[in-house]
Amino acid sequence: MAEAVKVAVRVRPFNQREISRKATVIINMIGNSTEITDPDNPKATPKRFAFDYSYWSHDEYKEQPNGYLEPVGGKYADQKRVFDDLGRGVLENAWNGYNCSLFAYGQTGSGKSYSMVGYGTNKVFVPCQQRLDQHHRLAAPCYQVLRRSSCQGEGNSLGVEACDEVKVVVSKPCAHTLLLFHCIVPISCEELFKEIEIKRSTAVKGEEYQVTYSMMEIYNEQVRDLLNPASLKVKGGLKVRQHPKQGFYVEQLKAVPVHSYSEIDKKMTEGTKNRTVASTNMNATSSRAHTIVGLHFTQKKVNDSGKSMTKTSVINLVDLAGSERADSTGATGDRLKEGANINKSLSTLGNCIKALADQSQGKKGIIVPFRDSVLTKLLMNALGGNSKTIMIAALSPAHINYDETLSTLRFADRAKAVKTVAVVNESPTD
Ligand code: ADP
Ligand code: MG
Repeated sequence: MAEAVKVAVRVRPFNQREISRKATVIINMIGNSTEITDPDNPKATPKRFAFDYSYWSHDEYKEQPNGYLEPVGGKYADQKRVFDDLGRGVLENAWNGYNCSLFAYGQTGSGKSYSMVGYGTNKVFVPCQQRLDQHHRLAAPCYQVLRRSSCQGEGNSLGVEACDEVKVVVSKPCAHTLLLFHCIVPISCEELFKEIEIKRSTAVKGEEYQVTYSMMEIYNEQVRDLLNPASLKVKGGLKVRQHPKQGFYVEQLKAVPVHSYSEIDKKMTEGTKNRTVASTNMNATSSRAHTIVGLHFTQKKVNDSGKSMTKTSVINLVDLAGSERADSTGATGDRLKEGANINKSLSTLGNCIKALADQSQGKKGIIVPFRDSVLTKLLMNALGGNSKTIMIAALSPAHINYDETLSTLRFADRAKAVKTVAVVNESPTD
């Protein structure tokens, strides 16, 4: 049965840039709807949008007299809430043999990665008395340091490899508070492997479970395998081909078997290091590429009539490049050209969503331009085919980002009308 794409929006706390520009909050959430006020016209009625989920994650902490940041509680939607609403469904679908896609949309720095892979439910508050040791400063942001304004320290988003435990060496006192989180991707994977372990412990003959991991990026309309450094040098990138039944796929993309979340975490860190990162005026560490993580989950079982059946589920996790227009990042020259290409991919995504929305509203003769960009070819199933799909649109709360935030809300609003038809992927084992 056709099912609408589930759409969630989430607003994050102010970042340093917004604080230093004395930003005001222009987002308001009431139940599942989200309102945005035009800062140039604050008296006008705010524009209101309804979504499946509206997550208020703007203010969680308040500085206490002792200098530490404490949760303020109440309205704040934390990582666990997001996982419970969105991640649990992904897991359930995977076990039932449905393909699932989860994609994050929004301008650079709006919180896409935070909701996908970021941090998590198991918050560990570590009042550390010191600057973090240099060797903790690795690529993937897995923990965050919140600090007193008076405290001179590192940036507020640092990385560490495996993030179950972080050692902080103490030499000079200051008041960092170290938070350790996970979100949808890590928790879903952890839960998936936990359940696989339970099933394995009581497995009968012919019962098998397998998970593989792949990770690619689309940069300037070229595909690179982030787990295969040699492919990064292939001129023109890897080829995208079409399978008569399964649709578009990337030729020679590596899919490595994984047995635990920590193996996935290692692969993710490895892949993240290989990513193309270009600095723009907006955010020096922003990725201008789309990253697609693919998990293939296979379950083999012998059915009642003694026949071996295989159930498969492909889980696509798509962290899109920043949706901001080239002009708002101050990009020029090469960067602008690159931006134009990225916008081509993203604008094709926008065109596809618009066409699909029109189609689902009964308009006739609509052609969905999937083939116009690499991104939409590879997302074809996620958008119009065999998949249960969720979109998270990440929002900045600040008035200085009004135009981008409004355009994200409009994009998310159109995505609600897109319908997919997921089917259980089960067939006799080859
Ligand atoms: P993007 O992937 O969209 O470029 P990030 O996920 O890296 O953005 O988020 C940018 C910054 O904002 C990070 O430092 C991140 O920790 C912080 N952040 C984003 N969303 C939240 C949130 N819901 N709660 C707290 N901090 C957040
Ligand atoms: Mg990101």
